[in-house]
Amino acid sequence: MFNALLLDKQEDRTVASIQSIDESRLGTGDVLVRVEYSTLNYKDALAITGQAPVVRTFPMVPGIDFAGIVEESTHADYQPGDAVVLNGWGAGETHWGGLAQKARVPGDHLIPLPAGITTQQAMAVGTAGYTAMLCVQALEKYGVAPQDGDVLVTGANGGVGSFAVAILAKRGYRVIASTGRPEEAVRLRELGAADIIDRATLSKPGKPLQKERFAAAVDCVGSHTLANVCASLRYGGAAAACGLAQGMDFPATVAPFILRGVALLGVDSVYVPRARRMAAWDAIANELPVAVIEGVAATIGLSQAVEVAGQLLRGEIKGRVVVDVNR
Ligand code: NDP
Repeated sequence: MFNALLLDKQEDRTVASIQSIDESRLGTGDVLVRVEYSTLNYKDALAITGQAPVVRTFPMVPGIDFAGIVEESTHADYQPGDAVVLNGWGAGETHWGGLAQKARVPGDHLIPLPAGITTQQAMAVGTAGYTAMLCVQALEKYGVAPQDGDVLVTGANGGVGSFAVAILAKRGYRVIASTGRPEEAVRLRELGAADIIDRATLSKPGKPLQKERFAAAVDCVGSHTLANVCASLRYGGAAAACGLAQGMDFPATVAPFILRGVALLGVDSVYVPRARRMAAWDAIANELPVAVIEGVAATIGLSQAVEVAGQLLRGEIKGRVVVDVNR
């Protein structure tokens, strides 16, 4: 038996409760993981509260990411005792996820936890930090380099944005952080932002082509913000788009693409191939100072997850939330 946060559907409502579950109820997969830490992402909060149709089948254990220790394995790459991490692949959406003491998953969905990082630190980074690294790697693969000029991060105080600021600054970029929370400017400067701009300057409809201000951007926001970001990129610049905090729409023109040769690079963390996952996690373990990782996250127990999910959706939580599934 193990403890899990279980979501069920009662009439039209999602009901969330901590339950003691028999291991035989776990889904199929060739690796059984003793989960140590999971996290509460925005998507998890939507699933737990039932505010968006994230969960495809009920009952469901939410949790799109987790880190833990292999308990049983018939997969060639994993032995009992190995530390592993999982992001995405539909965990917590189409099959049971990380907000539980145990998870059974296909070994192909796991990656070995890189040396130099604990399971708790891995979840402080979580899907947010890993997505931020995928964005930075996408920009660099495209050819962006520190000497090209300023790099903008939108939604800078969010999970992805905070890590994007820290990673870019560590790699020598001059980072401009866009935020609606100017009171957090000190924190953003500590993470490495050279300058802070008010997100309101980017969030309204703008001209198709604007002053060339940024060599590149990591955009967590979408909608008019992403359109204005593209319109403000320098000739040949690139934006990595990963989020939709303002909206899923993209009310832009082709002008920046056909007149300035800029590129829009899409970043998905859920189904990205294994080699790129491993490269991202290796870079995280090698580059991110522990103080940055631990400074971004607070740890709660599994029993607090439902309450904190509501707070997260109401915008009452700062930074990332790690869930210790054993308390
Ligand atoms: P958070 O909720 O932690 O941060 C989002 C940030 O966006 C907020 O902190 C805020 O930044 C800004 N923001 C919120 N609402 C608005 C608005 N109406 N207009 C402009 N800015 C706004 O989320 P995450 O950092 O975890 O995720 C960021 C985005 O990336 C989300 O949309 C998420 O769904 C997506 N995502 C995508 C992934 C992928 O695979 N592509 C993986 C992970 C996340 P500030 O306070 O600084 O203004």
